[in-house]
Amino acid sequence: MSDWRFALVSPPAPGVRAQGFLSFDDPVLTGRDWPYVAIRGAAPGPAVLITAGIHGSEYPAIDAAVRLGALLNPQSMHGQVLVLPLMNPGAFWQRAAYVVPEDGQNLNRVFPGKADGSFSERLAWQLVQKAIRHADAYIDMHGGDMPEALVPFSIYQESGDAAVDAKSDALARAFGSPSLLIQRRRTDSLSGMTIGAAADFGVPGIIAEDGGAGLYDAAIAKTMLAGAENVLRSLGVLADATATFISPDRYAGFLWPRSRHAGFFRPSVCVGDSVAVGDTIGILKDFFDQTTETIIAEASGRILFLVTSPAIAENGLICGIGLPAA
Ligand SMILES: [Zn+2]
Repeated sequence: MSDWRFALVSPPAPGVRAQGFLSFDDPVLTGRDWPYVAIRGAAPGPAVLITAGIHGSEYPAIDAAVRLGALLNPQSMHGQVLVLPLMNPGAFWQRAAYVVPEDGQNLNRVFPGKADGSFSERLAWQLVQKAIRHADAYIDMHGGDMPEALVPFSIYQESGDAAVDAKSDALARAFGSPSLLIQRRRTDSLSGMTIGAAADFGVPGIIAEDGGAGLYDAAIAKTMLAGAENVLRSLGVLADATATFISPDRYAGFLWPRSRHAGFFRPSVCVGDSVAVGDTIGILKDFFDQTTETIIAEASGRILFLVTSPAIAENGLICGIGLPAA
């Protein structure tokens, strides 16, 4: 396949890197700069899409994408890679967590988006229609957002097509995160994610998560960069070395404990801990040091992410417990 697949940007000539800022044919999607780097190998090969900054304060992921866009050599590379390191620039510049400031929506809950919807829905729609659905493989890099810590893990969503799922599985094993969560098709908790839209179009894809808590960490960025490079080796885009694959711990889904009431959260666990049914995850206090609520694990598993901010709203998310695959 030699044609340029990603209509989101003008086709670079073979052997050329093009970079700049996206311009959408949608009058609502203005006022921000969305950077892109489009690298077209001199030789044909697969089309790979890499995004980061869907959540604008997940810094190691954004930095890994920036580094990747700069280092890929179009002269020696096979195929085509579109790197979009900052899909939610409003959140980046406002240091906002979870949402797109323009409309307050979580961009990773509105996929596949709508052509005439909200700002976030339109952005998702453009990304799906002009990039995601045309990719041979998709990596969406994330981390814990501003108030979240996590252990590195990857997610893919089942597509209903075993061959596609096997490719997503291989992407995760090549990226190299030690934990892998396999999301069942069309669940309420994670519907609307980038990789769900990809799966619906038969495009193998993973979300790769590392770093968090609003921290920039160059070592984590380099780990994510190495993971992305190894994925590109596994796909034949890079031929500088042989791809390696790991055997991650596997999880069959998430349990997301939430608070009943608002309160000041004192955790009893650390991110990465294993918990059993009935274990205390933490307590909520009022401002007179009275315990108002105890958060209990309702399933056994591992704390893959944990909210680090004590400020927990009513029905506030506390953590994500990865439920081990049978
Ligand atoms: Zn994220």
